[in-house]
Parts: sequence; structure tokens; C-alpha cells
Amino acid sequence: MIKAVVISVITVASAAAALADDAPVFSRPPDSCGTVQAPPLVAQKPIFAPGVQRVIHLNKNGGMYNLANAPTDSAQNVANARIVSQRGTGMIMIAPLEAGFDYNQVRECVINHYKPYNVRIVETQPKGEHIEAVVGGNGTELGFPSGALFGIASADNFCGVTETGIAFTFSRTHTNVPRKNEELCATIAHEVGHLLALEHEVTPIDLMSYVLIAQSNTKTFVNGNAQCGVDPQSTNPCSCSSGTTNSGARLGQFVGARPAETNPPSLTVKDLKDGGKIPPAFTIVAEASDAEGMADVLVYVDGTEIGHSAQPEGKTYKISGSATEGQHMLSVVARDLAGNLTKKDFNLTFAKLATGDSCIDNGACEGNICAQTTDGNYCTQSCDVNADTCPEDFACDGRLNACILTTGGCCSANGDATGSFLLALALGGLVLRRRRR
Ligand SMILES: [Zn+2]
Repeated sequence: MIKAVVISVITVASAAAALADDAPVFSRPPDSCGTVQAPPLVAQKPIFAPGVQRVIHLNKNGGMYNLANAPTDSAQNVANARIVSQRGTGMIMIAPLEAGFDYNQVRECVINHYKPYNVRIVETQPKGEHIEAVVGGNGTELGFPSGALFGIASADNFCGVTETGIAFTFSRTHTNVPRKNEELCATIAHEVGHLLALEHEVTPIDLMSYVLIAQSNTKTFVNGNAQCGVDPQSTNPCSCSSGTTNSGARLGQFVGARPAETNPPSLTVKDLKDGGKIPPAFTIVAEASDAEGMADVLVYVDGTEIGHSAQPEGKTYKISGSATEGQHMLSVVARDLAGNLTKKDFNLTFAKLATGDSCIDNGACEGNICAQTTDGNYCTQSCDVNADTCPEDFACDGRLNACILTTGGCCSANGDATGSFLLALALGGLVLRRRRR
């Protein structure tokens, strides 16, 4: 059965082989999805307790993926070659999503399709177990001819949840499709659907059919019994249930419903004020809580997620990130399990810290040295003891070749090699003394 399905994919792929590699042309009917419609190739136990919210990493930035004869593992970017590859094993690169798509529209659309269900979308790599939805490329990366596939899911546990699955959506195949942003969204939702226990069904408006949104006009996971197949003219027996299937009901069964309360979480952001200054490499510290359950805290720079955390210490979330120097809008968002958001915006100047400013690491400082002292950490800079190039209230220490606060005491430094000599001297027991004034 598996073999037969694979052969049909190859046939469709061959029909599309004439398409120029660099100019994907949309033509129906290519199979829009290469996912093998068969029960699990690899038994995978659900690793989440009932009610735990699953995480989907929506990745528009591409990356390197390892096609291996091994279970799919989103954390390691390993896809199961037996399921998704027409070229055997090896490393492949998926390009980032092309310009020309309205990514914000696509993202909001995907979030909306999954809103009723107990999943949340993040756009930066999660620390915990998750499903990945990578959006980019044209399918040739996996050995399919360009334009042959809209997407394919590395669904080791087809008919159940592939907890660490990877869903590939080939954006370039959508380039010339009518209503391409909605269709791209529909493919992402469809391929993720395969990782969440869904198989193809014929209902035109269902996300698990092949019917284009230009023809069905709208798409959703329908809660209603449907014949398996890809469109009303192309039916097949169901693989995952007897008789009919039902995408909406199966998501309810395998994923569960999202909590429905509407109280937003509380959020306090530490050490940031609107109009303030922040180093280009930074760590945001926020306290967030929600009576009905927190999901995560996310940090955005100019609307792009640059990091998130779902692993607080108590109520404290720490998210590290970086941005180019200059003016940016930094937003911190607390999100609860129901999807309620509390957002704080800060217009900030991203610039390295001046000598004397308090710091956490060397990279935050203009002088690239964050000195540790018994009175706290401060930025400093290297100097020439003969030229006296240090700012006021600082003196050049000839042994360290660094400016030292004249009111400071013993000194060491944080982190990398730039500062390690300071640390080494401090460990040697040297005490810095006032040299000026
Ligand atoms: Zn499919």
C-alpha cells in the first residue's frame, strides 16, 4: 500500500518534470501534497500528557536538514528519508521564504486555522519538544521536480500525532497560484495537519482537501464526516478510520480544544523604558503570570519574533536576542494558554554601552570590556598608559592596558578573551588602586 502511494507520487512528479527549475509555473492538477497516506512507519508514543499545549515552530528562515533513515526529529532538523525523500539520504538546504509573499498575512492565517485547538505558534526555535513547519524551497531539495509538490509532511506516526515532526511547505510552488498567500497558509495548515493525525478528505472547503482556495473560496478544518480522498472526484478508502474521516473532530480528539478564558496575563518588563537605550546584544527580563495558565513570553524587534521562552524561573522569563544598532521598536508579549496577549512596546536606541555604564557581558560595551568589580560590573575600554586616553573618573592601568574607575576596588572581567586578562590578574590577587586625583 505504501509502495503504491509512492509510485503515484512519482508519476505526478514526472508529469511536472518539464517545468523550468527556476520558474515554477502553477498548473493543476499537480498533487499538492506528497505525504504518504498510510499508518505509521515508525511507532511513536505521544510524549505529552493530555491537555498539554503543543508548540508549532513556524519557520520562514529555512535551514539545513538531514534526510536520514531515522525517526523525524524537529529539534535536530532530521527528516525521515523513507517518508519524504526521493533522493535518499544526506544534508539538504531549504531556502528562506521568498519576498513577494505577505508573510504577516500567512502567519495570521495559520494562527487562525489552529486557534480552536490546543496548540500555539512560535517563530523562533523552541527549547522543548515541538512540531516544525518550514516554509521555503520548491521540492527539488527532497528530490521532487520543481513545481511537483505544494508540500510534504515527515509524519512518522501517520494517523496519530508525530510529536517531533517536520512539515515542509514549498513556497516557490505557490508563486503563481491564485490567492497565493491564502493558499500558502492552507498548505502549511494542511501539512501540519498530517503531523496532527489528519489524512486527506474530499470536502472542498476542508484544509485537508486539494481543492484550491480560489475554487472553494474559504478553508477550515471542518467538523463533519467526509469521504477520504483529495477532491470530490478523487476518493479513496480512509487509512486512519473506517468509512469516513473528520478533520475537525480528529483535531479535537488528538490535540484537544484550546482553553477558552479571556483574561490576559500580567506583564512587567525589567530595566527598560520607552525612549531608552539597550545594547545590540541583550537579554530581556520579564515577569509574567496568568491565573489560568501561562504559555510563553515572546520578544519582537520591529514586528519580527527574535526569541521566546516557555521556561520561566518562577514568574521570571529571560529572552536573549540581538538587533542592529539604531532605532527599533522592541515589543514584549506575554501569552496565556488561551491565546490572550499582553503587549508592551518600547522605542529604543540600540547602541553599545559607554565606558562606565553597567553591563552584563563584553559584547554590550563600546570598548568590548565588561569589568567585574566588587561594586558591580561596568563597561570599560583598552588604553595606552602614556597617552592617558581614558574618560574622566577613569585612569589607565598600565598592567591591564584598560581604563579603571578611579573610585573602584578590586577588578576582574567577564566572559571572553578580551576581558580574561583582567580576570586572571584579579585572581592573582592584584588590587587596583587609585592612580589619579
Ligand atoms: Zn496532504
